Amino acid sequence: MTHTITAPRPYQNYVYAYPHKTAYRPFTPRPLLADLWAGESRRALSLYLHIPFCEVRCGFCNLFTRVGAPDGLTGRYLDALTRQAEAVRAALGDARPPHFATAAFGGGTPTFLEAGELSRLCDIAERVMGADLRAIPLSVEASPSTATADRLRVLAERGATRLSLGVQSFLDREARAAVRPQRRADVEAALGRVRDAGIPVLNIDLIYGINDQTAATWRQSLDAALAWKPEEIYLYPLYVRPLTGLDRNTDPIAAEREWDGQRLRRYAEGRDHLLAAGYEQVSMRMFRRLDAPPQGPDDYACQTDGMIGLGCGARSYTSGAHYSFDYAVAPREVRTIIDTYTATTDFTRAVCGRVIDGDEAERRYLLQSLLQAEGFAIADYQLRFGRQPRDAFPAELDALAERGWLTDPDSHQLRLSPEGLAYSDAIGPEFFSPDVRAAMAAYEHR
Ligand code: SF4
Repeated sequence: MTHTITAPRPYQNYVYAYPHKTAYRPFTPRPLLADLWAGESRRALSLYLHIPFCEVRCGFCNLFTRVGAPDGLTGRYLDALTRQAEAVRAALGDARPPHFATAAFGGGTPTFLEAGELSRLCDIAERVMGADLRAIPLSVEASPSTATADRLRVLAERGATRLSLGVQSFLDREARAAVRPQRRADVEAALGRVRDAGIPVLNIDLIYGINDQTAATWRQSLDAALAWKPEEIYLYPLYVRPLTGLDRNTDPIAAEREWDGQRLRRYAEGRDHLLAAGYEQVSMRMFRRLDAPPQGPDDYACQTDGMIGLGCGARSYTSGAHYSFDYAVAPREVRTIIDTYTATTDFTRAVCGRVIDGDEAERRYLLQSLLQAEGFAIADYQLRFGRQPRDAFPAELDALAERGWLTDPDSHQLRLSPEGLAYSDAIGPEFFSPDVRAAMAAYEHR
C-alpha cells in the first residue's frame, strides 16, 4: 500500500511496557510497599519472577542480565528472592490475600538455574506468595542449551503451561552473526526435549533483520519452526540498541533506511507465511496456532491489573505506581545491581519507579490495547475513562487515520490496519506523554 504521507521510521521503540524503565527514577522518600498496595485490588494479579543470568550475552540483547553466575551467586540470588517475596507478601497483608491469575519466570534465562534451583523458585511462588502454579498459566523462558530434560521435568511437574524457547534463527551462520553461536542440531534437540516434557504451549522466538538474512534464509527458519507445530511463534525485528554487543558493528546512518526496508519485507513475508500456515496474528510480534489449546483461565488484563515482580530486574504495577530496582544494561552496572540486590535485607520499600496518574493510565491502556491485532471496543474505553479515545488523543488518532493505519475509522472498534500493525513500534511512541518522553530522553544509558 502506498501513501503520499511520509511514513515514520518503523522501528523506534518496542512498547512491551509503558512507561519504559528509562522513565523510572529513584523515589525520595521510598514509599512502603504496604502503602502502595493498601487500596489495590488483589483479585487477578500477575506474578513475575526475574532471573538475571544467561550463559552468553546475545548480540541484540538490551535486557537486564549478566553472563554466568560465579561462586554460588544463584543460591544467594534465590535467598534474596525469598526475602523479597516474604516482605512483599507481608506488605499485601492477610485481610485480603492476593489471588494470582497468571505467573511467569523470565529473564535473563530462568533455566540458567539448575533443576533443584528451579524447584526452589517454584516454592517461592507457591509457598511464600501463595500462587497456585498448577491451577494458573505459568510461562517460562528458556534457551536451547539450558532447556535440559531434568529442568523441563521440574517445570512441567510444577505446572508450567508455556515454554518459550529463544531460537532466533535456525541457520548457524545467522545465529553466529546476530545472536550467539549455536548449532541447529542442538536447537532441534532442545525442541524435542520441550515436546517430550509435555508442556502444553511451545513458543518459538525468531528474529528478522539479521545481516545477510534473505527471503530464502528467513523462510528456512520459519519452516524449521513450523515443523514443530509450535502453539505460538514470536517474530522479533532485530534492534540495535545502546550498549548492546552489536553496537560495535552498527551500520552507518545512511544504511538505516535500507535496513528498515529489509526488516519490513521480512516482517511481511513472515506474517504472510504464518497466516497461510494456520496461525492468527495477535500483535505485530505474536502469532498463535489457530487450533492451539486454550491457555487456561484468562482473567488477567495486562493493561489494567496489578503485577507483582520479584527479582532485581522485575517491575511491579499498582494502579498508582510502577516500580522496580535500579536499571542498567552495561555488564559492570548490572553486576553491581545484582550484588546490591543479593545483599539487601530490607525489601519493604519501593526503590525506583514512576507515579502513574490518570493521564498515564489512559495512555497505557490505549497503547497496549491498540497494539493488539484485534484492537479494542470504543464503548469499553468510554466506560473506563468517560470519554472517547478520539477526544483523548485527537491528533494522534487523526494521524493514524490519515496514513490509512486504522481499519475503519468509523467502526465501533479501534483497530490497526495490516500496515499500521507493521508500524507498531512507530505508533506506540506517538502516545507517550511529554513527561515520559522527557524522562526517557534524559536517562543516561549505562
Ligand atoms: S536475549 Fe535473552 S538469552 Fe540472550 S542475553 Fe538477552 S536475556 Fe539472555
